[in-house]
Order: sequence, then structure tokens, then C-alpha cells
Amino acid sequence: MIIVGGGVAGLMAALAASPYPVTLLNPGPLGVAAASAMSQGGLAAAVGADDSVALHVADTLAAGAGLCDPEAVERIIGAGPALVETLLRLGVRFDRDAASALAVGLEAAHARPRILHGNGDQTGAEIMRALMARVRATPSITIVQAVARKIVVGDNGVAGVLAVRGSEILLLPSDRVLLATGGIGGLFSHTTNPEGAIGHGLMLAMDVGAELADLEFIQFHPTALDVAGASLPLISEAVRGEGARFIDETGAYFMRGGDLAPRDVVARGVFAHVQAEHQVFLDAREIGARFATRFPAIAAICARAGIDPMTQPIPVRPAAHYHMGGVVVDAAGRTSIEGLYAAGEVARTGLHGANRLASNSLLEAAICGEAAGLAMAALQVKPLRDVQAELPALPDAVPVRPIMSAHLGVLRDAAGMGLAAEKFAEMAGQNPAAALALRIAQAALARKNSVGAHARVETKQFYKAA
Ligand SMILES: Cc1cc2nc3c(=O)[nH]c(=O)nc-3n(C[C@H](O)[C@H](O)[C@H](O)COP(=O)(O)OP(=O)(O)OC[C@H]3O[C@@H](n4cnc5c(N)ncnc54)[C@H](O)[C@@H]3O)c2cc1C
Repeated sequence: MIIVGGGVAGLMAALAASPYPVTLLNPGPLGVAAASAMSQGGLAAAVGADDSVALHVADTLAAGAGLCDPEAVERIIGAGPALVETLLRLGVRFDRDAASALAVGLEAAHARPRILHGNGDQTGAEIMRALMARVRATPSITIVQAVARKIVVGDNGVAGVLAVRGSEILLLPSDRVLLATGGIGGLFSHTTNPEGAIGHGLMLAMDVGAELADLEFIQFHPTALDVAGASLPLISEAVRGEGARFIDETGAYFMRGGDLAPRDVVARGVFAHVQAEHQVFLDAREIGARFATRFPAIAAICARAGIDPMTQPIPVRPAAHYHMGGVVVDAAGRTSIEGLYAAGEVARTGLHGANRLASNSLLEAAICGEAAGLAMAALQVKPLRDVQAELPALPDAVPVRPIMSAHLGVLRDAAGMGLAAEKFAEMAGQNPAAALALRIAQAALARKNSVGAHARVETKQFYKAA
């Protein structure tokens, strides 16, 4: 079995498949350049005393704006409490309260406190630490530092992966491959994702004709730290959960709908204020000295940028954050191509609909990675025939970024999306990143109304203040 990508989805799949032999491909050392390791806010699961799966399901469906698959929501959210037990067994150290119970925090659009943290705001890094240790200690898992460049498909379904390690080309035969390659934020000029998260898995899936869906639904985080560079550090929503408020350069509060309104509403509010030539800040001064202990990683990020959140407002801007769409999968992670599976952010399970509820993605990556690993290990072995394959053109996100940011960002209109589609079509033949961007632009054009994270200004319903 080949797993492409060593984030939470890929690692959970590899562990679930054990002792079935797994080759895990990742471009560099595990944990580097994986969104999983950068997650701050936490992992949502209905484990609090006054919480229930039904309440978590209701919040997820509300965020998804009518476009979630209710069966997927019930299944994935319902598996949350058991996943927390699994992660504890695997060695994840979630934060605990004074009575040693799991500590749960509140986040935007969650009706109950249900966000589990690890080391305060280093939840993803803590989960990755535990999973990486387990993976390294599992003899059936071989880690290969290489980039998957092509899924090889024969008459019989998947036949292997063509990967590149330095100047070496590897043809790795296998009748089952899992895409666990993460998101697409790197297709934009500003993102919270690692810069290399340009949708490799979607390009690999497109190349073999796998079904994709909901590509137009891209979540923008309202509060990336407004510093130079493409990959911007995130100032987690949890900071607003603890009382920080939006202000502009005049010190005025401007956010209609409230600081903890759903993420898309807040992102549009921030974006509209930036477009009106204001500077936007997050004022966390009231949190005071607690900031450094509650948010040690964010405090360090701010310190590196020369900002002291105890005395200064934090400059922020919206940035591409999470892709709700992806490769269409069923409950076992199966795609429309025999032997090809997908899990984590690259997959479209139906959990998120038009918008993801904060902290539901680590949950989804872990649960669906595990399910895919189990399903793949249980497949009957198929004989592999000799297959030939050639490397496709190398994806280049650089010419794609300004066009995506200008026309497929927080606020969209038909003329801009049409222009973007034309430009991407010109480049698509030579550049798989442009071919993917073209599919995203086409999906966005085809979605005529504003819904969830897809906001068309000409529909006049895009700023939905609560
Ligand atoms: C800053 C930030 C904060 C976040 N905070 C939260 C949060 O608090 N809670 C939450 O639920 N979600 C959060 N998210 C979202 C969440 O982290 C991701 O959706 C989730 O971790 C995705 O996991 P994954 O395993 O699918 O992908 P990733 O963790 O991104 O891992 C994908 C891996 O695949 C590798 N890869 C890609 N292409 C190839 C290829 N061709 N060949 C080989 N390897 C490849 C990548 O290098 C990477 O290592 C956050 C995201 C970011 C960026």
C-alpha cells in the first residue's frame, strides 16, 4: 500500500493499516510543511459534560449552509468521542483541567465548549508528535522522502505511483494508493497553509479522471498575521474566543454580526473593511498576561513580528485557509477510481458542505484516514501487470497565485471569475496547477448563488450579518 502525504490523515491511515506493509511518501521529514503540525485551535469532539453528538452535528450542518451530506456528518461527528480515546491511546496529551478531566474550549459557531487542545495552541504539533513516534516505531511502515508525481492506472485500476526523490525517478508498484496530500492554500498569494500546499493530490486525481466536487468552496481565515510573505502565521479564532475584538486603525469596532460569527461572515467583514482602505487589527489587550500562557505559540509568532499583544493590537488580514472541496470519497475513503483512496483535506467527504466548522478538519483527517487505512488493508491483493508511465509537467503555482487571489478570493463576481478561467485555460496544457485552478474557476462560475464560503458580490447577499 502506498500513502502519499504524512499529515494526520496519512499517519492515521498508516497506523490503522498495520501490520499491512505501507510505503509512506512525504517530500521531506515528517511533520515539516504539513498543515497538521500547524493547527492551533484544536480538535472538535462532543466530549464535554453538557455536550452531545446531536449538538455538534447541528452546528456542523449550520456552518455547511445546507450543502453537507447529512450521512457523512452523522458518521464523522458521531465517531469523534471514540477518536479522542484512540488518540489518547496513541499517546496524544490533550490539555486537562484542574480536576484532570479533558479541558474543552469554545470556538466560533460551536454551541458548546468542545475544542480539545494540546500544549495550549499547539494542538496539531502535539497530535503529530504522538503519531510520528508511533509510525517510526511501526516496522510495517517504510517512510520514503519523495514527491508523488503521477498515479499509474492500468486496466485493473491503480497500479502504482511515479515519484521523484531528488534527481531519481521511482516507479512504485501497488494496487492501492491513498492520497493524503492536504490543501490548496498555496494557490493563493496569501495563505495560512504551507507554501507548498498547492493541491498536488487534486492534480494527481484529476490526471487519472477521478471525480472531484465542491471545488469552489474555499475557506478564508479572517485573521492571518499581516506581515510580508505568502505563507502567513495564523492568529487562531480561539484568541477571539478568549475575548479579543476587531478594531481598525481609528480604534473603532467595525464587525457587524459579532467577533464570533461564522468564519465566512467574519472574513467578508474583514475583507470589506480592508477594501474600504482600513487597516484591521485584533485587539487582545484585555486578555492581558494570560495571553502568553494560553497562546504561547501565537505569542512567539507576534514577538517575531515585533508585536506585543498585551500592549498592541495585532495587524491581521484574510488568507486562504481550508479547502472544503476535493476528491469525492465514500465512507471508506474510496474514490471513483478503483484502488485510489483519499483522506484528509484533499478529500471531499460531504462533512463540510459550503463551509467548514472550525476544528472539524483535524477530526475528519484522523477519522477518515483511519477508516481508509483499515479499508485498504482489507482489500484482496490483485496481480500487478507491468505498466509504463511518464512524468507529467511540473506544477507551478507562481503564475496562478495573483489570478486566484484577485478573482477567486473572499468576494467574487462573474466577470472576474470568467477572466480567471480564460487565463487559466491558456496555461492549463503546460501547467497542472493552472489546470486545477481552471477547474476551481469553472466550479465557482457554475455556482450562481452566494452560499457558505462562496460569495458572489453581484448576488447582493454576500455580507450576511448575523
Ligand atoms: C495554520 C493552520 C491552522 C489550522 N488549525 C486547525 C485547527 O485548529 N483545527 C482543525 O481542525 N484544523 C485546523 N487546520 C486545518 C487542518 O490542519 C488540516 O485540514 C489538516 O491538518 C489536514 O491534514 P492532512 O493530513 O489532510 O494534510 P497535511 O497535514 O497538510 O499533510 C499533507 C502532507 O502531504 C504532503 N504532500 C503533499 N503533496 C505530496 C506529494 N505529491 N507527494 C508526497 N507528499 C505530498 C505534504 O508535504 C504534507 O506533509 C489548520 C490549518 C492551518 C494551515
